[in-house]
Amino acid sequence: MELMYASTRDEKEKVTASQAILKGLANDGGLFVPTEIPALDIDIETLAGMSYQETAYEVLKRFLTDYTEEELRHCINSAYDGKFDTEEIAPLVDADGAYYLELFHGSTIAFKDMALSILPYLLTTAAKKNQVKNEIVILTATSGDTGKAALAGFADVPGTKIIVFYPKNGVSPIQEKQMITQRGDNTFVVGINGNFDQAQTGVKQMFADSRLAAQMDEAGYQFSSANSINIGRLVPQIVYYVYAYAKLYANGVIARDEAINVAVPTGNFGNILAAFYAKNMGLPIAKLICASNENKVLYDFFATGTYDKNREFVLTSSPSMDILISSNLERLIYRIAGNDASKNADLMKSLNTQGCYEITEQMRAGLQDFYGNYTDEKETAEVIRSLYEKTGYVIDTHTAVASGVYHKYKAGTGDTETKTVIASTASPFKFTRSVMEAIDEKYSSMTDFELVDALSRIGNVKVPQAIEEIRTAPVLHDTVCEVGEMPSVVKKFLKM
Ligand SMILES: *Cc1c(COP(=O)(O)O)cnc(C)c1O
Repeated sequence: MELMYASTRDEKEKVTASQAILKGLANDGGLFVPTEIPALDIDIETLAGMSYQETAYEVLKRFLTDYTEEELRHCINSAYDGKFDTEEIAPLVDADGAYYLELFHGSTIAFKDMALSILPYLLTTAAKKNQVKNEIVILTATSGDTGKAALAGFADVPGTKIIVFYPKNGVSPIQEKQMITQRGDNTFVVGINGNFDQAQTGVKQMFADSRLAAQMDEAGYQFSSANSINIGRLVPQIVYYVYAYAKLYANGVIARDEAINVAVPTGNFGNILAAFYAKNMGLPIAKLICASNENKVLYDFFATGTYDKNREFVLTSSPSMDILISSNLERLIYRIAGNDASKNADLMKSLNTQGCYEITEQMRAGLQDFYGNYTDEKETAEVIRSLYEKTGYVIDTHTAVASGVYHKYKAGTGDTETKTVIASTASPFKFTRSVMEAIDEKYSSMTDFELVDALSRIGNVKVPQAIEEIRTAPVLHDTVCEVGEMPSVVKKFLKM
């Protein structure tokens, strides 16, 4: 039976999985959600014996029902290959009473690779299935991590081009170097003289520009988005929760049907929503522990039922979670509203106009699966240092936020027994300075690459390929433009 996708703001708009992936966002601005969550009707013994790729196939085929087996296997095998530096793809590390699920073994050493390595294949397959003749042009504004992961995913993928705009003075030196050294004839990286919001607004305006769309179509192009609200990014993220559960069972850590907790460092609410979908497929998950940094808009939401983005934006050492509008939360709101699109649309309108909304008591009852809390900057550093001192294991700042919240969860609820998986979303090598200074202040005088080597020594881990590459890689992109020039830069790159 075909699983359809509906917009969270209008039940009447229903499309297939491949159409939802192609469109990214529904016409009414809503997000696509599956009209039901398929059951994970596979015996745990069978799952326990599966590779990551096989697990991915079992999950994807239940959600992306208009893809053939051959198409899905091609997408999976093209994505989860030697680009990952471990055959397990997502290994589990047992440290200090928790299981760290390392989601950073892909080419840009952050968890975005888990979905962005397969999205290009899902998207180009979707284009073929829907008789799209144009070449797909991915347009992205980035504050650092997403841009590089999207570039790496789409580089040299036939039938696609990718253009990334980043704030010229608004990303870290390592992030900038990662992007401007990107190889691939179909890649294009542009620094703008402006901030991230201006880059994002510029990109949104191009998406909405119907004259530009017509010119593009004439030249044989159409825009698409690799944004985290694309269902083609959400579904591949369900896979690693299923895989981690099966691995815990295979290793004798948990018994049949034993429930686990999952703790996730959260920004846009995509990663934890995938865990929620896994639970709704039937995976035995007890609590979904939602961890925020000092931008604790989600913690306040779980505590009060009011979502309020009207507050100071804090720059933290976990920048990928510095977000005040968690876009994917809309999918949860829609669900706890009883899959009521008009109720959800009203709340989102209020978010748009007032910057806040309040859910009903009845809707709050739907949040029981979640526990929310936050870790401040000082606590984050302490978590990194104490885990390192106890075990020798080094985690990054984002993962430390989740670890800190897990400690608060245990202390606050008394639930110290349930086995807990902590999503480890970035390699410590990606945030070397914050990590090393947390371990010992003496590191503060070192240069970035000295810190990389020091981390490799003290953590007893090889420097990842992604970092080695940028030590020597030549700069291949040096275009810088004003915000107003973004459309003309795009046209020039596409030779229009
Ligand atoms: C994107 C990101 C997050 C947040 O994930 P969401 O799906 O946006 O909640 C956490 N950690 C790292 C390292 C990230 O890159």
